[in-house]
Amino acid sequence: MRTLTRKLGGPIRVGIFVLAATLFTGGCLAEPDPSKGNAASPTVLITGANRGIGLELARQYSSEGWQVIGTVRKPNQAEALREFGAEVMQLDVTDQASVEQLAADLDDREIDLLINNAGILPRMNSLAEVDFDDYNRVLAVNTVGPVRVTRALLPNLQAGDGKTIVNVTSGLGSIAGNTSGGFYGYRESKAALNIFTRSLAADLGPEGFVCIVIHPGWVRTDMGGANAPVLAEDSAAGIRRVIGGLSPADNGTYWTYEGETLPW
Ligand code: NDP
Repeated sequence: MRTLTRKLGGPIRVGIFVLAATLFTGGCLAEPDPSKGNAASPTVLITGANRGIGLELARQYSSEGWQVIGTVRKPNQAEALREFGAEVMQLDVTDQASVEQLAADLDDREIDLLINNAGILPRMNSLAEVDFDDYNRVLAVNTVGPVRVTRALLPNLQAGDGKTIVNVTSGLGSIAGNTSGGFYGYRESKAALNIFTRSLAADLGPEGFVCIVIHPGWVRTDMGGANAPVLAEDSAAGIRRVIGGLSPADNGTYWTYEGETLPW
């Protein structure tokens, strides 16, 4: 118990809850096995970790002592990630072979927390501007990508103690909140990501998983642009704070990085 608590360092109470539930129901959860390699600290895998919010999440989890696996499309352009000791692995979320290779390379390694962060925002602000190649691409990256990655890594997540899946969505994916239109393709991709997450929550909740979506704010990254009011550091810190406070009752919820919940 002490080992597990130290490993989680407080951020993922879900694992502790599962341990407690297992103990109280008469089950037996063995102490972490050092030979599995992640007994000392929890492991997070973050997609799209070479820049923007993903890079900042990787930096902050690293500095907190987590084992960080940052996935990137081009491993030879991931110096920033390597600088603070994150492990770099190749992944294009639209490429099934790349996803399968990642799963094969991870083998039976435990992952406590998966953050599906990689995303794109093609500019299609009116129906007339819709380009169907861009439309298909945004769905492939923002929606199908997290489905591919989550399915491929589910055994690793099931083996981990944290059992937490965080899909980075957008406020623009809220159906209830859409009174201004525009952002064709992007809104649809994030709304679909949201309902995928609700299905995950329903299906995996009984196994002790907590699956959520989170809106990172309008963030000053390549995607958010120079006028965005929120710094990547603050967005990532807020996202980590929300994740750190999750309990089983939060399974299937929609958050902002500031810790508010959003209407679907
Ligand atoms: P950036 O544009 O700064 O970074 C996007 C990241 O996604 C990059 O690492 C990029 O890799 C990666 N990526 C793109 N396509 C793929 C792919 N096919 N396979 C794997 N990785 C890919 O975006 P942000 O950091 O701003 O956004 C991160 C997340 O936050 C996204 O899901 C976005 O939708 C969401 N978000 C952002 C907001 C903002 O204001 N910034 C607002 C609301 C939501 P590469 O460098 O190789 O292109």
